Amino acid sequence: MTLRKRIAILGSTGSIGTQALEVIRANTQFFEVEVLTAQNNSDLLIKQAIEFQPNAVVIANENHYHKVSEALQKYPIKVYAGAKSLASVVQMEGIDTVLTALVGFAGLTPTIEAIKARKPIALANKETLVVAGELITELAEKYQVPIIPVDSEHSAIFQCLVGEFHNKIEKIILTASGGPFRGKKREELKNITPAQALKHPNWSMGAKITIDSATLMNKGLEVIEAKWLFGLESHQIEVIVHPQSIIHSLVQFEDGSIKAQMGLPDMKLPIQYALAFPNRISSNFPRFDFAKYPHLTFEQPDTHTFRNLTLAYEALAMGGNAPCILNAANEIAVADFLAEKISFLEITDYIEKSLQNVDFIAKPTLEDLLETDKLTRKRLER
Ligand code: NAD
Ligand code: MG
Repeated sequence: MTLRKRIAILGSTGSIGTQALEVIRANTQFFEVEVLTAQNNSDLLIKQAIEFQPNAVVIANENHYHKVSEALQKYPIKVYAGAKSLASVVQMEGIDTVLTALVGFAGLTPTIEAIKARKPIALANKETLVVAGELITELAEKYQVPIIPVDSEHSAIFQCLVGEFHNKIEKIILTASGGPFRGKKREELKNITPAQALKHPNWSMGAKITIDSATLMNKGLEVIEAKWLFGLESHQIEVIVHPQSIIHSLVQFEDGSIKAQMGLPDMKLPIQYALAFPNRISSNFPRFDFAKYPHLTFEQPDTHTFRNLTLAYEALAMGGNAPCILNAANEIAVADFLAEKISFLEITDYIEKSLQNVDFIAKPTLEDLLETDKLTRKRLER
């Protein structure tokens, strides 16, 4: 058996995927690439495959299959296409860890199949835990598969918990940057354009999560993600706005002691931590300098202006398929906002309307969740 971890990256052409490949490129003594996948960006997928020589690639959009397979035909790389191939490729014997770096609901099925194949998960795709947290955690328990968080806040909490897993958590505090519109009131958000919302102050990320950060829905999704990753009740999960994004999140234990994890905002660190876990490996990422940050500040989130965060807490309290409805409505709303079909504030209306209009199921099966997702989208697309 090779000593290097063989990594499958679902969504290798995205923001997390490309940063994961940077981490692997800098640490070839520890990691090699087993599988790469992308939705549409066949040019980049081909380039990555030629550089990293994985065992297999998947182009989810079947229209690009011929282009990819032609470009890679002189290499010993298997080429597959279609969403179904994503779900089967994660089961390949050579994979040691699956990094779920694809965006949205599409992450659910491949993650389930990877867990069933007993592949440890490095989880960036938070939507999977939002829509099916209970199901996924039960499955991970059943198959004894670790789910290591990549999301920076959850990585921070996980890092604080190493050595403490036997100790009770009183609460966790998720930090939020507040996004590009922190301090603005509803009136000022009426005419926000996609270009304005796509400018995040501290992080450079994919379009969907960047809009989620601007609406605070990202933090709402992260509250739900945290519930399932750390087995918490919603009253144990707090959100505090910390505009500098240096403290990545905190855990408070029963004795009142608080642990925080900090550093410059750079996703490569939590990605590397998740891939190398339980080890830490050296890096040349820029180091944090306290002298350059004399003021680390904190404030309450403005949930009156950014109602998505409240809606996420409500969906979490409702349980069942409510977070799945919330997620599907949000995915459609964000896509429609980016396509300039709806305004920034209407994103929240879509979600609220869907939570009222789509039938509630208290104990959804996987089929129920797939159906809930479909139905929520259909109702909004009319
Ligand atoms: P992105 O849009 O930059 O990349 C998404 C990747 O997934 C691309 O490779 C794309 O080809 C692929 N993809 C998109 N739709 C797909 C589909 N339907 N089927 C298969 N593949 C598909 O997104 P990102 O910013 O890298 O985010 C990826 C995930 O990580 C999201 O769930 C996000 O919430 C989470 N995350 C991202 C960051 C970040 O800094 N970017 C931080 C924390 C968590
Ligand atoms: Mg995050």
